[in-house]
Amino acid sequence: MNSSNDAVRAVLALGSNLGESRDTLSAAVADLADHPGVSLAAVSPVARTHPVGGPPDQPDYLNLVIAVDTTLAPHELLAHCQQVEQRHHRERIVRWGPRTLDVDIITYGDLRLQGPDLTIPHPRASSRAFVLQPWAWMDPEAMLEGEPVAELAARAEDLPGLEIYEGD
Ligand code: ADP
Ligand code: MG
Repeated sequence: MNSSNDAVRAVLALGSNLGESRDTLSAAVADLADHPGVSLAAVSPVARTHPVGGPPDQPDYLNLVIAVDTTLAPHELLAHCQQVEQRHHRERIVRWGPRTLDVDIITYGDLRLQGPDLTIPHPRASSRAFVLQPWAWMDPEAMLEGEPVAELAARAEDLPGLEIYEGD
């Protein structure tokens, strides 16, 4: 990244529940960082959640959060995230069927944005343990809209059943 003075700290959330999810997440983190306008600042531990309801034998979800310093504008960052999703979607369509990788922008500095294709902070982040808990593991002091992320995680309805994933 060239002009680190202009860089903005953004938090991205990644999730996968099909295929080799752990490998997909690692590859996606590398893909996200492989851009001249993106520098990886931190990576959270991986959270595993057991799906509740839905079809039987659904694979577990694996989720992680990363912090990046970026010179990309918000919509450029979204486009980059979607390109990385596409790269893994394509792979997954061929090999595993739908839904391998989701990449969401959780925060972008202190920006608040509400548009047809991009809302920041992510509107559902403050209630999702699978975003909040990895984020709190990565940065125990993190705040989201004036509230400690760790406290939001502790209150999230989907916190029970979430555990740290260290490999099978
Ligand atoms: P979800 O992440 O809610 O499961 P998708 O990944 O299919 O659903 O995203 C649907 C749309 O959400 C995207 O096309 C994108 O334009 C929009 N979107 C709005 N805000 C955000 C955000 N903060 N991060 C990522 N996508 C967002
Ligand atoms: Mg998404």
